[in-house]
Parts: sequence; C-alpha cells; structure tokens
Amino acid sequence: MRKEYDIIVVGGGHAGVEAAYAAAKTGLQVALVTMNRGTIAQMSCNPAIGGLAKGQIAREVDALGGVMGLAIDASGIQFRMLNRRKGPAVWAPRAQADKHGYEKFVQDFLASVDGLTIIEDMALGIRHKAQGISKRITGIECQKYGVLHAKAVVITAGTFLRGLMHIGSEQIQGGRYGEAASNALSQSLIEAGFELGRLKTGTPARIDADTINYDKLERQPGDEKCEPFSYLNKEITNKQVDCWITYTNEGTHALIRDNLDRSPMYNDQIQSTGPRYCPSIETKIVRFSDKDRHQIFLEPEGLDTNWVYCNGISNSLPIDLQDKLIASIEGLQQAKILRYAYAIEYDYVPPTQIRATLESKLIDGLFLAGQINGTSGYEEAAGQGLVAGVNATAFIKGTEPLILGRDAAYIGVMIDDLVTKGVDEPYRMFTSRAEYRLLLRADNADERLTSLAFDYGIIEDQRWDVFEAKQRQKQEITDYLHNNKLDGQDLTLLLRQQDHDLPWLLESCPELAAKGYDHYALESVVCDMRYVGYVQKQLKLIEKFRKNENVRLPRDLDYHKISQLRYEAREKLNYVQPANLGQASRVSGINPADITVLMIYLKKLGKA
Ligand SMILES: Cc1cc2nc3c(=O)[nH]c(=O)nc-3n(C[C@H](O)[C@H](O)[C@H](O)COP(=O)(O)OP(=O)(O)OC[C@H]3O[C@@H](n4cnc5c(N)ncnc54)[C@H](O)[C@@H]3O)c2cc1C
Repeated sequence: MRKEYDIIVVGGGHAGVEAAYAAAKTGLQVALVTMNRGTIAQMSCNPAIGGLAKGQIAREVDALGGVMGLAIDASGIQFRMLNRRKGPAVWAPRAQADKHGYEKFVQDFLASVDGLTIIEDMALGIRHKAQGISKRITGIECQKYGVLHAKAVVITAGTFLRGLMHIGSEQIQGGRYGEAASNALSQSLIEAGFELGRLKTGTPARIDADTINYDKLERQPGDEKCEPFSYLNKEITNKQVDCWITYTNEGTHALIRDNLDRSPMYNDQIQSTGPRYCPSIETKIVRFSDKDRHQIFLEPEGLDTNWVYCNGISNSLPIDLQDKLIASIEGLQQAKILRYAYAIEYDYVPPTQIRATLESKLIDGLFLAGQINGTSGYEEAAGQGLVAGVNATAFIKGTEPLILGRDAAYIGVMIDDLVTKGVDEPYRMFTSRAEYRLLLRADNADERLTSLAFDYGIIEDQRWDVFEAKQRQKQEITDYLHNNKLDGQDLTLLLRQQDHDLPWLLESCPELAAKGYDHYALESVVCDMRYVGYVQKQLKLIEKFRKNENVRLPRDLDYHKISQLRYEAREKLNYVQPANLGQASRVSGINPADITVLMIYLKKLGKA
C-alpha cells in the first residue's frame, strides 16, 4: 500500500468527507483514514440535514462544491422549508434523510473521486518534526499500516477522542454506539502540546415503527413541492413520508423528577458541558419546570427500516427508566425500544489554538475541523471540513488560503467566532450570530461563494455552467422588472410589499411567467427586490467592516513587543494571533483603544 500522500484526512464523518473531497479535487493525492469504511458519513444523531441557519450552511457547502447537498437530495424522505411564513431572508431548508441512503450515496460518491484513497485504519497519533523555531507535520501513525507520510494532515475525529458513553450508571468507552473510542490520538495531541477540553452531547432512543399507535399522534407532512438543497438539482423525485408529533406529560415529568439522582447529568457522573440550545429531557424538565408538556417529533430513519428517531427526548437515564419514560408517552405505550438513549463525553481542542484557516498554531500543516473544534452538528462540521481541505491544499501549494468573511458566509461567521472567542459549550450556528443575515440567505449562497470557490479549483464544469445560467436568467428577470410596470406602478417597488411574493408576480405578469425561467432564479430575484433597501444599508456597513478586515496582521507577531498595548491586550492577542485587524477587534477583552494602538504600530511597521 502506498505510504505517502500529499494530504491525509483522519475521520470519515461530515467534516472528513468534505475535507477529503475538496482536497482531492485540486489534483493532490489524498488519503482518507477512517476507522470503518461502512460508517463514512454516518449521522450519529438526528437523521436530518438543515434547519434554521444549518440549512444556510448546507447550501453554502453546496455552493462551494461540496457533497452534502447532493447526498441529502438523493436520500431525503421529507423536505420542509422552515420559516416559510416569515420573510425569505430567514427561510431555511431542512430534510429528513433515509439515514443509510445518505451514507451509501456519500460512500459511492467518494469511491469514484480521482486521487482519493480510502484507508480503513485507526490513527494513533500525529508525526511532526522541528523546523526552525516551529514544528511541521510529517504524517500520522496508524494501528494497522504504521506510519503514513503527508505534507498536510486534517484531523476530523468528531466525538471519538476519549469518548465515554453514559447510560445511567453504566459507562462505556466509545466514540459512538458500538464504535471504539480514539484514546491514543488524544494522548498524541496532548504530547504535541495541545490543550484539550471536554464536552458532552446526547442522543434519544430509537423505537420500532410497527409498535407505535399512530391514531394518537399528530401527522406532520413535508412540503408538497420539495426544494432541493443542491444548486445542481431542479427537483426531488424520492418517495416522501410523514413525521409524527406527540408530547411528554405530567406522568413523564414526575418519573424524571423523582429519579434525577439516577441521571448521570444530575448526580455528577457527567462533569462536562452539553449544548444549552439542545437540552436533554432531564434538563428541560428541571429548567422549564412550569411547562406541562414538551413536543416530541417521531422521525422515520428511512424507507426500508422500522427505526424511528424520537427527537426531543435525548437523555442518559438507566434502561429501566427509559422503558418507563417511553411507555408514559401518548401513542408510545406499547413502543419497543430498538436503541436506548445515551450521552457521550469527548475531548475537543479549544479552537483558540487554530487560525482562521483552521491550521493549528502549534504545528504547521496540521488542520482541525468539525466537532474536534468544539462545534456540534453535521453542517457545521461539513463547512469546516471543506475550508480545511482547501487550506491544506493552499498550504502545500503555497497559495492564498480560503478565509470566508463574516459578510460572505455563515461558515465564515462560525470560524471567526471559534478562533476569536473560543467555546464554552458545543457551538452550533444560529441566524442571530450573523450580523449580515439579510445577505447570507439560503437562496443566494451560490452568488456569494461559487465564483470564489472556482478560483480555488473546487468547482466542476457542470456546476459552473448551472451557476452562469442562473446568473444570466437573474439578470434578464431583473431587467424585465426594471423595464415593466403593473397598472402604472413600478414592479420593483411593488415587490417590496410583504404579500407580493413569487406566485403573485407570476400571476400578475403572465408575459414573464411565459418565459419559463427557472424557479430558483425567479425566487432569488424576488428576494433581492424585497430586501434591496436593507441590503444597501448592510452593504454600507460591510464597507466599513472590510476596512479592518483588509488590514492583515503579521503571522506569529509578538504582541509583547508593542509596549503601548495594555498588558491584558498583549496576552490575549498573543494567544489568539488574529489574522487581521477586524478579528483582533472581536477578541474578547480587546477595546477600540487597543485597535488604535495596533493601527499606529502597523503604520510604523509599514514605514520601516
Ligand atoms: C451521541 C451523539 C449525540 C449527538 N447529538 C447531537 C445533537 O443533538 N445535535 C447536533 O447538532 N449534533 C449532535 N451530535 C453530533 C454530530 O454527530 C456531530 O456534530 C457531527 O457528526 C460531527 O461531524 P465530524 O465530522 O466532526 O465527526 P463525526 O461525524 O463524529 O465523525 C468522526 C469520524 O472520525 C472517525 N475517527 C475518529 N477517530 C479516528 C481515528 N483515530 N482514526 C481514524 N478515524 C477516526 C470516526 O470513525 C468517524 O468516521 C451527536 C453525536 C453523538 C455521537
């Protein structure tokens, strides 16, 4: 077996898949080293892609040429556009996946990528060497195949680093149900000088679809017209299914309240922090004690399986209590549990130890992406994986790295937050984290990112053709709207009104409707028109914002040498090593006076 590669990606989760694919597309030799070929792209938790802000990220990954959008379009069994009743700026695509169909699509897809070798093995550690005063990655050490050499390495080990699962008092080492933990890799990172932290997440029980009493449940159908995630797809033809809704009740709550001492989260067995926004059912009952019920979505895991995911009741209770919990719920009295809920604690690398390129500050050529950086979620992982894959390539080729701005993508917002602020709980994306969210819409991710990605060599011809065709159509539609009036009124002004949506436009302008323009081009123009006033305001703000973003700070600058800076500012900036003045201003504890000092210093440096 070949032992030398340009890039090695460790881990075949959602981050690893995108990193490996993006890197291989640039013509380099890439190895994806993962514990089990059959679990590549596995959905560890919820069998769904997208949702609020996450749907936007999934579209961004697609616009950057990633796999995620194609995989969910091929395997989606229920598509919904969330927030449809609100303005299009906050619409967010979500789809329930046929879980195994999703994995299979990605596995087959990667198998056909030129220059990508998939190696089934466990990475035990990283290899690096001293280079001047810094260190440089040289490869990894594996359990079966020994040392594999590479010029750059991307680690995407997810929840596997010293993973410890909890079901009541039972504690099992593992990265995910039935899979081994990755202990040696954690140790190797510590030995290399990384500081590791510990986080926690959890998953609910899966139950047998044939044992649910559907008469007692509310039906939740998907959208009649499914909107694809990928800009390459025009329609979804997969069979679609319903999800179902039920609720916890006073009986469920009393059961949990009376047995909190048996929950690892409440008896100190679990010490690490879980996601505040996605609490376990124990936490919901303690924190929202005035609520008399909590919603549960019953989500089928596929078309050819009986497995149903109980969204909303993740927990780490012992098995006897989990049986009682499920049996206390309307419609689930007879339900058979196929897999019990569990919580998992795992190591992560606090992300102030990485740069905005996702390269570690400690070892040149070592990149980290996904859950290992303290995030949570498939989409967050995929976005980082793609950026890390591109930047590992840029590192080797000595070309410009890909750093997405906060004004360009949710992925940019996420990475900027991670590297400037760090995390104290699993980080997931929310629309509220993005200051320019009117621009960062699900409908325009291609406009924001595809031509940028083209410059990095990760956009295939077909995608480029689709992109150009849509842009041409958008221009024609925009021209039409500027050049035509409806009952003497300017169409572009009429479209700013709330109830004047795409169906209204097509009904009011049969001539435009008859031209047969692509639905997505039309919808995107309608969004542009709706927000044009706000967007112009945001663009002005962005102009200001970019001034500081464009002032780069030297790599490895020793801030202690800038004596005019406050001591605290020197310490913080030395630790974070921001890429530019904008990032420096977002480091917690840095104030405008510090930025002025930095600007004066940079001016002097420039003159010198
Ligand atoms: C129990 C549980 C509950 C979760 N709950 C939620 C939730 O509520 N909300 C949410 O958004 N997300 C949740 N997640 C997280 C979600 O699964 C992750 O955010 C996402 O999968 C992260 O993607 P990733 O690519 O970083 O890692 P993963 O998808 O975890 O993939 C890691 C990959 O690395 C491989 N690997 C690990 N170590 C090695 C090694 N040493 N050598 C070779 N290969 C290795 C593994 O085999 C795997 O393929 C949960 C995960 C688990 C396990």
